[in-house]
Amino acid sequence: MTESLHTEVAVIGAGPGGYAAAFRAADLGMDVTLLDVSPNPGGTCLYRGCIPSKALLHVAKLITDAREAEEWGLKFAPPEMDYDKVRARTRQVVEQMTDGLGQLCRARNVRYIQARAAFINTHTLAVFHEDGAEDTLECAYAVIASGSRPALFGPLIKSPRVMNSTNALKLETIPETLLVIGGGYIGLELGSVYASLGAKVTVVEMTGTLLPGADRDLVAPLQRRLEHLMDAILLNTKVVEMKEQQNGMHVVLEGPDVSNSPQLFDRVLVCVGRSANSSGLNLHDTRITTNARGFIEVDAQRRTAEPHIFAIGDVVGEPMLAHKASAEGRVAAEAIAGMKSVFEPQAIPAVVFTDPEIAWVGLTENEAKKQGVPATVARFPWIASGRASTLSRADGLTKMLCDPDSNAILGMGIAGSGAGELIAEGALAIEMGAVAADLDMTIHPHPTLSETVMESAAAIFGQSTHIYRPPRKERE
Ligand code: FAD
Repeated sequence: MTESLHTEVAVIGAGPGGYAAAFRAADLGMDVTLLDVSPNPGGTCLYRGCIPSKALLHVAKLITDAREAEEWGLKFAPPEMDYDKVRARTRQVVEQMTDGLGQLCRARNVRYIQARAAFINTHTLAVFHEDGAEDTLECAYAVIASGSRPALFGPLIKSPRVMNSTNALKLETIPETLLVIGGGYIGLELGSVYASLGAKVTVVEMTGTLLPGADRDLVAPLQRRLEHLMDAILLNTKVVEMKEQQNGMHVVLEGPDVSNSPQLFDRVLVCVGRSANSSGLNLHDTRITTNARGFIEVDAQRRTAEPHIFAIGDVVGEPMLAHKASAEGRVAAEAIAGMKSVFEPQAIPAVVFTDPEIAWVGLTENEAKKQGVPATVARFPWIASGRASTLSRADGLTKMLCDPDSNAILGMGIAGSGAGELIAEGALAIEMGAVAADLDMTIHPHPTLSETVMESAAAIFGQSTHIYRPPRKERE
């Protein structure tokens, strides 16, 4: 039987964008219904993205640390893997978080419906339950938070040997040889997991650099380590053909260094970007517009061309990151409540959770050059950090970009252990309009890697205690 339901705010998709929007709207006193196909909120981030990948990367990091400890006089036996336990732990982490979000829904009186939704008209959603039942949901406002999915790849073959990030996280098997197509952050994170677990991993990247977009000097320490960990990293290289054979995937590569690389792989992992989940929502019957890549177009309050319908998170485009989705979700809920909130962050941090981690926030040096933005750049190499030496990780780098006149911090980049945690200080500094002297004069605890942030600020003035550079300007 079809039920006609009513709500003030319907949120389609319960990822970090959708649940943040739903919770904020409920906290602001609205009647909220949150819809998603999964049994609990969490979305890509919790079920098949950020959280399971980081749980596996933690295992990979332990394996690497244990191996490298031999150099410090501590020798462990080679690890014995119980993959059922590894998988169970990852599942447990995910379930604990998603169950918790389910409880938070109930505590806030957010109605959670496990179903797929699509627009019938601009105030009515069709609600498709897994068992085939179909309801309608009338809403005064809607927030589209339907996220993204792995992009399809040209010569794609439907085969159990070809994985996307979702299948790869299931860790069904550790192949002897793995080809990772795409040297972006997802390819490198998952490639690192499989390589640490013993697979011979080859990464192919179409452009001339890993992590296109990130500054070269930040990528360099990662690339050096990955060259040891992986079987091969092939840049400027394309996969032009893939054929399934009985004994593996036969892959034809085109690029400058492909002559020695294997052509047969047990598995292929495709990580060539993500596509917007906008096509299944029946947006045709609304005035909502999408761009050429299918991302929904929104204004600063995340309002679509339909004034009572908002869109947030991956479905509105880059940067496709969980924390950006959540921040947009809160803005959309506040806009619905009539508040003057807008999504205008000064900077959104990005983190690659490889070993070493790479993180940046605000203006990058690449962007400064491309956009012709004048910037003073200072670098603090971790070879001069006591804490980095105690960790045997002196290969890191902290860099800062400042406005040459005001010394306002425009950007920060970090390569090294814990970069993902350290970058938050840069985000705060940029958001608060801090100048280099603010970070330089803030006493940071010793010995910590956070001192590298302070020292890179001091290096703007040529005054870093632990490096000597001819002075550039005096701090006033
Ligand atoms: P999603 O999290 O994609 O959630 C959308 C939800 O909507 C999904 O549950 C989907 O099933 C549901 N849905 C779609 N259509 C409908 C419909 N019609 N009806 C009902 N429900 C629907 N980001 C980071 O910030 N840090 C990381 O470390 C990180 N690691 C990642 C690792 C991997 C392997 C992947 C794949 C992604 C990672 N991301 C990371 C990206 C992050 O997961 C996304 O940016 C984030 O999940 C986007 O949130 P969202 O709310 O926009 O959408």
